[in-house]
Parts: sequence; C-alpha cells; structure tokens
Amino acid sequence: MDVIGSMLYEGKAKKIFTAARPDQVVHYFKDDATAFNAEKRGTIVDKGVVNNKVSERMFTLIEENRIPTHFLKRLSDREMLTKKVAIVPVEVVVRNLVAGSLAKRLGLRVGDAIEPAIVEFYYKNDALGDPLVNDDHLRLMNVATPGVLRELRELAHKVNAVLKPFFAERKMQLVDFKLEFGLFHNKLILADEISPDTCRLWDMETGESMDKDRFRKDMGKIEEAYQEVLKRVCG
Ligand code: UDP
Repeated sequence: MDVIGSMLYEGKAKKIFTAARPDQVVHYFKDDATAFNAEKRGTIVDKGVVNNKVSERMFTLIEENRIPTHFLKRLSDREMLTKKVAIVPVEVVVRNLVAGSLAKRLGLRVGDAIEPAIVEFYYKNDALGDPLVNDDHLRLMNVATPGVLRELRELAHKVNAVLKPFFAERKMQLVDFKLEFGLFHNKLILADEISPDTCRLWDMETGESMDKDRFRKDMGKIEEAYQEVLKRVCG
C-alpha cells in the first residue's frame, strides 16, 4: 500500500507528497487554474481528475515508445506515483502550429503550420515570468550544458512524434505543448504532466479550443472541453 506522506511542495496545479520509498513521490492534481504568470486565478471543476488520467495515458504511451518518464502508476482519481526527480528548470515548448506567445511575439498568423516542428526553451522562474531563452543563456546561468540541451531538444521532438499522431487519430490537432524534464540517477527523464493544461488542442472538425485557452480567454464550456479530451484520450 502506498501511503501519502508529508507535503514537500505545493505548486499552482499540483501538490507533491513523500511516498513510502524515498526515491518516489506522490502528485496530487488540484482543480486550481492559473494563467498569465498566476495573475488570473480560478477553478476548473474536476480538472485534477482529467489531468491525472490524461497524463497517465500520455506517459504510458511515451514509455511504450521507449522514452523514459517519471511515471510509475496512478493511485487514485487525483493521485499519481512517480520517480522523484530533480527538475531541470527549463520549460521545453514544442510547436506544430502558430499560436499563443509565438503569434504575438513574432506577428505570425495563428493556425499556420510549422514544419518541421520547432522547440523553444523558457527559463522556469516565476519572479522573472518564465522568460524565453536560448542555449547560450542557459549555459551562461549554468542551468544546462550544451549536451543536456541537445538531449532535451531530441527528446522533445521524439515525444512530439508520438503525441501528434495519437491526438490526430482522436480528431484533435496538437498545436503546441510544454514539457518538463528531471534528472533521476543522472539520467534525463520526462516529468511533470501532459494534459489540457499544458497542451493546445484544437478539435479537427470545428477548430475549437479544447484546452486551457478556454480559461485564459474566458471562452466558456471549460469543464466540457476537459471532459471531452478525457473521453477521446481514455474513453
Ligand atoms: N505552457 C504551459 N505552461 C506555461 C507556459 C506555456 O504549459 O507556463 C504551454 C501552453 O499551454 C501551450 C504551450 O506551452 O500549450 C505554449 O505556450 P505559449 O508560449 O504560447 O504561451 P501562452 O500563450 O500559453 O502564454
């Protein structure tokens, strides 16, 4: 039996607890939603359940494709047991279509295809608002070596090659998504979550957003969109 221990950390969307083993942790997925560097706050009913179950499916699929992840097992509706990693403070964003900050920053047209997909790095730092950085910046700050950055980029493209067709088969376009990696016994493995909080997903027939953009932009039908993603991914 895996016993939930003491809380190690509380993030915006998850709490992390100690597990029975010191090299493992339990993630508790909350319904709290934030956007724009936590300036906008709210609740998406049952988001935690959706994100836990969707992440389980994503990590299982990714592991089946021989990419290592922190995932061990889902313990309950809102709890997931994982390996305990040291998170690399880099948000790795993969983009297949123009949207979000890329459209805004470079004036590109939302929805245009990006082929081949591009990878961006953001320095994970709330006080700085997670700034976009390049390899040289991360090296300057001793966040990651060129070797680690090369590996992050390769792993991100591999994950995209697995996820993009998976979502397409379920009539969803994987527009972009954010990954986080951690070190486990000196090896880089995929960590955090993969969910409608961290991916942009557009319905292939209607073009409608089925992700956190509905919350960011007050588009309504947020809970319905999350449940629909769960149904298409796990149903
Ligand atoms: N993203 C995320 N966490 C962040 C920032 C971005 O999960 O702190 C995801 C976001 O949901 C989208 C992708 O990364 O799928 C690219 O986000 P973008 O840079 O366009 O920023 P946004 O428009 O979300 O502010």
